[in-house]
Amino acid sequence: MTVNLDRFAQGPPNPADAKVMAECAGCGGEIYPHEDVYVVDGEILHNEWECLVRYIDPDVIPIEEALK
Ligand SMILES: [Zn+2]
Repeated sequence: MTVNLDRFAQGPPNPADAKVMAECAGCGGEIYPHEDVYVVDGEILHNEWECLVRYIDPDVIPIEEALK
């Protein structure tokens, strides 16, 4: 007896196959169509604070140090 698997041949669309538009300059992750992004100095970042901070990589120091 043969089981007909034709209806399984075409699975659901895989999110991993979605077209990658760019790579985030902050986290290095992929950016997909229709996503909002930050643009900093021509670099493209996810619209996420974490990516922005990772890209800018600011120094965290006490205010007294910053004013020296
Ligand atoms: Zn990112």
